[in-house]
Amino acid sequence: MNRNNPPLVIDAARVIAYAFVDDIPYRQWGSLYVAGERVEQVPCLAICSNLGADMGALLCHCDADWHVLGVMLGASVEAGKARAEDNYPGVASRWVDRETSVEAALDYYDAQPERTRCSFCGKRRFEFMGSYVEGDTALICGECISAFHRELNKES
Ligand SMILES: [Zn+2]
Repeated sequence: MNRNNPPLVIDAARVIAYAFVDDIPYRQWGSLYVAGERVEQVPCLAICSNLGADMGALLCHCDADWHVLGVMLGASVEAGKARAEDNYPGVASRWVDRETSVEAALDYYDAQPERTRCSFCGKRRFEFMGSYVEGDTALICGECISAFHRELNKES
């Protein structure tokens, strides 16, 4: 397998530690379902911290290109590593810890070509909750849509 190190940010989460597990004999233990599909052996694991709302430590099960196939929530990085050990015995000695600051992670996130901010208030996609509307050249978050409606009702 082509072992490429993960980016600083996966989806909207900062990578804290990662490990390659493609050559560790997989052990069935517990189960991880995503959209009704069971996620089985993966080649790459990452423990991440969400850039938006704090969700604890995310144990991300990834493909070789670090696309997330499934996520397990854990209380801490240590808990995430311990959970990974259940499926990938010996991974404990493989974790590569990263010292990426939140600032550096946000810089990386902002540099991505995808449109990731509300065109009106400038909030990043993970900073506003709930729905949003996306057009060809702009994105508007639910909060801005609500504010717009309030303004409209005021005027009429
Ligand atoms: Zn907005």
